[in-house]
Amino acid sequence: MNNFKAKKFFRKLVKTLSCFTVLITLLVILVVLRLYVVSKNDDVNPQFTNGNLEVHMIDVGQGDSFVLLQNDKVMLIDAGTMYNPDVANKALKELGVQKIDYVILTHFHQDHASGLFSVLLDYKVDHVYITNMSKHNPFKMDLTYYVINAMLKVANYFDGNQMLEYAKYEDGSFKTFEFSDSSVEFLAPIDDEYDDINNYSLVAKITYGDVKILFTGDIEKEAEKQLIESGVDLSADIYKAAHHGSLTSNTEEFLEKINPSAVLISSDNGNHNSYGHPVASFMEYLQENKIRVYRTDESGSVKIIIDGKSFLSDTSRDDYKSGKEIMEEEQSN
Ligand SMILES: [Zn+2]
Repeated sequence: MNNFKAKKFFRKLVKTLSCFTVLITLLVILVVLRLYVVSKNDDVNPQFTNGNLEVHMIDVGQGDSFVLLQNDKVMLIDAGTMYNPDVANKALKELGVQKIDYVILTHFHQDHASGLFSVLLDYKVDHVYITNMSKHNPFKMDLTYYVINAMLKVANYFDGNQMLEYAKYEDGSFKTFEFSDSSVEFLAPIDDEYDDINNYSLVAKITYGDVKILFTGDIEKEAEKQLIESGVDLSADIYKAAHHGSLTSNTEEFLEKINPSAVLISSDNGNHNSYGHPVASFMEYLQENKIRVYRTDESGSVKIIIDGKSFLSDTSRDDYKSGKEIMEEEQSN
């Protein structure tokens, strides 16, 4: 090895090692803190609702986090972003949550997964459903995947390897489970391998009585098309807009199959939303079809109460602006 090559090799080695040092340090901190948390296993939730299913869309900025409450049960769907890592945790505390029955982590992008660090350090979680990305190469694509996956595995170990679950059985069929008086059914990811991490998003349909809610993570057109072609019943009263209302998702064919009466959009109207989510064409579709819109960038956190026959909310605006228009307004003020 000549001198130049040796130097290059050494530099590369130092770079790799420093990445691992950061990762290992994070994990060690987590493990130590986790040991303190294990004593919280006896925590008991109060009765949050008298039978109703409550959906809290938490204003985490440019990301997703939803807290679902029914009777004394708690479910968290995604946990928010790297730049707002404690918001979901704080929201859980404000709601009086003592322990979490279910976490659904739709996929491993930072705007959905980062807040889980904070939540897992504070809360005992019974089940965390994740998407199986074993055929994906996270080193090439996304460091978040590697870090969150490693963190979940450590937390899982301390919970006696009972906590982590894939949404699919080994034969490829989807799992379902009961959440208090509601049922939860996974519909996607249909394939085992995608180029785009967004398409690995877990899609979950939650039904309480006559009311159905569809959570879609950040699925793109490709996964939407697969869902339509699978022939599964996509109809839902409330639809969590895929990928924060992005142009690369929310095709008309998909929206027609869902045929929602209300849509939930979680996005930021500031510096973190350079994508202009939600896009104008999507907002126009919702307006034309008289679909109610709830969005965090305008209203902050939103609470929906479902009694099994209908639902009501405490925040709604009907001005149907795209994210880009809202950002422009903010700037001109
Ligand atoms: Zn996202």
